Amino acid sequence: MMRILVVTGLAVSLLLSCKEPYSKTKEEAKPVILLQPLAFTDTATLSFLKDSIEKFYPVSIVIAEPKQFPANTYYKPRNRYRADSTIKWLKEIKPDSAITIVGLTKEDISTSKSGYVDFGVMGLGYKPGNACVVSTWRLKKTAKSAQQIRERLFKVVVHEMGHNFWLDHCADQQCTMVDAEAKMKLDEITGLCNSCKQKLKIKRPA
Ligand SMILES: [Zn+2]
Ligand SMILES: [Zn+2]
Repeated sequence: MMRILVVTGLAVSLLLSCKEPYSKTKEEAKPVILLQPLAFTDTATLSFLKDSIEKFYPVSIVIAEPKQFPANTYYKPRNRYRADSTIKWLKEIKPDSAITIVGLTKEDISTSKSGYVDFGVMGLGYKPGNACVVSTWRLKKTAKSAQQIRERLFKVVVHEMGHNFWLDHCADQQCTMVDAEAKMKLDEITGLCNSCKQKLKIKRPA
């Protein structure tokens, strides 16, 4: 009787010792993404984004201390900030521990696009890349609630992150990677289509 108990006890402790390091390694393997608030103080929205993004991509979100835009990103003629210059700066401040840094702001942002010197955008991210920026400025139009604006914001964030993770625009009008074409298409988006899911590459830094 005594002997059986000892053997069972040993088996259980062996099982535990095998299991624990395995789950720890799995947790560490998740790439870190830094969420950088830029003149953005809505902490409830920041934690909503953290939870939603971690369910959407296999990543771990870290929320950074808020910062202001650097002076050189300001575009005075339109009282807004250049998304391209902001991305350049975000790349410089990104710690090596994060694979991508996502700037978040309520200010209007813009870039140069198809003949326009300064074109207002909801977000900007390059493919592939390690930085992107998203604004809530253009998300309020026709929105019926604060929650709807949050949902839209989340969809723009995972869209720009998708570009960083090697995704192009997608023809599927319900896919996260649909081209906004300066229209409000966000409410129809349901998630990444299967084709985009297969092309997704979330990598740690080399
Ligand atoms: Zn895009
Ligand atoms: Zn797609």
